[in-house]
Amino acid sequence: MKWYEMTVDETLAKLGSQAESGLSTLTATKRLKKFGKNQLTEGKAPLGLALFFKQFKDFMVIVLLIATFIAAYLGEVVDAIVIVIIVFINSILGYSQEHRAEKSLAKLKQMANPVAHVRRDGAWLTIPSSDVVVGDIVRLKSGDRVVADLRIMTSTHLSIEESAMTGETLPIAKTSQVIHGEQLNLGDQTNMAFMSSLVTSGHGIGVVVATGMETMVGQIADLIVQAPKQTTPLEKRLQNLGKVLIFVSIMLTSLVVGAGIWQGQPVYQMFLSGISLAVAVIPEGLPAIVTVVLSLGVQRMIKKKAIVRKLSAVETLGSTSVICSDKTGTLTENRMTVVELYLNGRLFNVGGGYRLTGDITATSNQAEEKMLARFLQYGSICGAAEFVNHNGESVIQGDPTDVAIMMAAAKKSLQLTENLQIKKITEFPFDSTRKRMSVVIKDHQQHYAIVKGAPDILLKRADRIEENGRIIRLDQQQRKKIELMINQMASKAYRTIALCINPLQHPNRVKAEDVETGLVFIGLFAMIDPPRPEAKQAIKQCKIAGIKTVMITGDHAGTARAIATELEILPNQGQVITGSQLEQMTDQQLIEQVEQTYVFARVTPKDKLRIVQALQANGHVVAMTGDGVNDAPALKTSDIGVSMGRTGTDVAKEASDLILLDDNFATVVSAVEEGRHIYENIRKFIRYLLASNVGEILVMLFAMVLGFPLPLLPVQILWINLVTDGLPALALGMDGAENNLMEQPPRPIKEGIFARGLGFKIISRGFLIGIVSFIAFLLAYQNGAQSIQYARTIAFITLVTAQLIHVFDCRNERSIFDRHPFGNRYLIVAVLSSFALMIPVTYVATFQAIFQTVALSLRDWLTIILLSSIPTIVFGFTKR
Ligand code: ADP
Ligand code: MG
Repeated sequence: MKWYEMTVDETLAKLGSQAESGLSTLTATKRLKKFGKNQLTEGKAPLGLALFFKQFKDFMVIVLLIATFIAAYLGEVVDAIVIVIIVFINSILGYSQEHRAEKSLAKLKQMANPVAHVRRDGAWLTIPSSDVVVGDIVRLKSGDRVVADLRIMTSTHLSIEESAMTGETLPIAKTSQVIHGEQLNLGDQTNMAFMSSLVTSGHGIGVVVATGMETMVGQIADLIVQAPKQTTPLEKRLQNLGKVLIFVSIMLTSLVVGAGIWQGQPVYQMFLSGISLAVAVIPEGLPAIVTVVLSLGVQRMIKKKAIVRKLSAVETLGSTSVICSDKTGTLTENRMTVVELYLNGRLFNVGGGYRLTGDITATSNQAEEKMLARFLQYGSICGAAEFVNHNGESVIQGDPTDVAIMMAAAKKSLQLTENLQIKKITEFPFDSTRKRMSVVIKDHQQHYAIVKGAPDILLKRADRIEENGRIIRLDQQQRKKIELMINQMASKAYRTIALCINPLQHPNRVKAEDVETGLVFIGLFAMIDPPRPEAKQAIKQCKIAGIKTVMITGDHAGTARAIATELEILPNQGQVITGSQLEQMTDQQLIEQVEQTYVFARVTPKDKLRIVQALQANGHVVAMTGDGVNDAPALKTSDIGVSMGRTGTDVAKEASDLILLDDNFATVVSAVEEGRHIYENIRKFIRYLLASNVGEILVMLFAMVLGFPLPLLPVQILWINLVTDGLPALALGMDGAENNLMEQPPRPIKEGIFARGLGFKIISRGFLIGIVSFIAFLLAYQNGAQSIQYARTIAFITLVTAQLIHVFDCRNERSIFDRHPFGNRYLIVAVLSSFALMIPVTYVATFQAIFQTVALSLRDWLTIILLSSIPTIVFGFTKR
């Protein structure tokens, strides 16, 4: 079907849709059922069996399997089978955990999924883009991803970037006109918009001609490959650790086996020792627990209204040292309300707050009254806000700045219908680089451009002013007076907007640059946008946590200063750097300056990128917020790109690592806190698991060096590493946050796993655990009367118990009493379960056969508990 050759009306008729009302909900539902969701079926996801076998590929597991073969070869069939079973169970667990993690990540992706604005039954609705059907009327605006293939119906300077399909990176201007031609390239079909291309500027409306796999991208969908699963820095470090441990295990094993055989020990004995050691060195349960803990952390973040798009962000968040935040909407409420107007040399107060009613200072001057009415009316026309019916109530929706102006106009009970003589001809939408917008209208017989934007910028473009209904030259004195007014308003934290007009002689001059110069200044709007109440607290918290907050805004320097002072971002005497000052600075100068700067004002999105880079050059880990198309480069470059769930564009969301569901600064801070929390918990269980490995290695090395039989068998070690240690480790991963989490400086991003004394803790605790287990073994063995099985059982259980006591010390990196040791319910349950599991292992005949254990007496247990509490008693009180 060549949609581009059809007129808009023909297209609509063909698709059974109406321009004014769109589809009916009923039709849309039917079509959705019949033709399916508007989705691209992705390439095969690495789920199912593939993921299952991935567990087997894990190098640690391979080592185990080799051990099994050796055991089997040596005739230890039971051992071999048990090892295989334990590894298999572990793989199933690991698989189900990873599967769950992947599924919850997929769900996250869905939550962050784009929405579409469609017209149904005559009303504009926001629906998930997957529910869009053929015939839907869709609205497009700057920053949107196009949700389906569309025939453009209206275009207001609509430009779309289609590089994904055509390779052409320059945006293409779109029209609604018919195009003729055989077999036009996609790039030449300028009255069409294609799914997954990107609206770079302007806005427009289109009708859906194809959805899902029927779209142009759908047809080349083979090209869409599943993004490879990313490994986070921590996972990489763990992989490296794994490699080191494997190396250690191979070295130790060959050393012990080699030395033993050389000394003339039986080969079989030596291989058994080798396998035991190899198993002891490797923390088999670690990788699965990391995955689970990370994915649980991500779930917790969602509860706090932060969606993590990349798992690596969880770790990076904890290292964040600077948060660069937009002012408008993130630090402030984005509920703008016009409170003052400046017009005809006079200040008007606007009362009533954020409502459609309220009083505006009266005037007895006829000409002034007329000016006021026109000022408000033109202000409303030149904006992206509209009245909509919301549950039977009339409300204004759109850009908050424009909503505020329309609301002020409503207070004057201006009926926009009164002025059907006003016809909108074209529009140059707002963007934060130009900091202004304009519309061209025809009012009665005269054409005007109405230009609205940042006052300092518009004033530079104005040479006339309206006074008492007459247009006169704007002299120096008046200019000064207006500038004074702007500064006064700004110092009261008001956001200021100027309105100018430009009577056009040649209405067909339709370039923004042309109509936005030589302006007639009309007046100013001053609006409040109160700081979010929770922002101040969050900023204070950041300060204590060694995190610097930087405000970046396109707003006036005075307004930025006033709000930053109120929020206590800006210290006394602190200076505000403006976009134009920034332009004067070299990168080197900026790098020096950026350390002492807390507020950047009147900047463009391009400047944000330079700020991020300067901060990074100083070694900072930077989180940066953004919502517009132009923010994408800064979001990508920053360590944590943060986008806005409510007001953000699709482009910004795609470029970000974290999406704030509530657009709130305080949410960034709680995400940082959660990031720190997760990392600390990971440290806790790594410490716990590795201490166990150290203990296992040592107890065996002691025995080997002193010429005793092996105190632990491979199955026993595996059982400890995977089962009795696994549950408490998982519980440590779910431990609550310590209350001083946000009182410490951010963790250096390059910090290794064993930093801050963790390595020493692992070795020292592990050392004592090894010693007491060996002593327990010795006591039992020297007793002579009983079998080696008895001594092994004692060593085995001592090690398990020592770990189950030690786990309480791991909750905290200072002393055990710094925190209520039993404050973690999961941990208590886990420890009790692990302990309970030891009962069948020692008393039930089947398990006794497998684990080569014997039943113990009460006296044995008392000795075990006494010995195994020694490491925690000795080390529980020290901070080292
Ligand atoms: P920020 O989002 O940081 O406040 P913006 O880039 O949105 O910065 O706005 C910069 C300036 O542009 C504002 O201070 C205001 O003067 C002007 N401005 C903002 N929104 C609009 C709008 N919708 N129409 C006209 N001017 C606007
Ligand atoms: Mg803005």
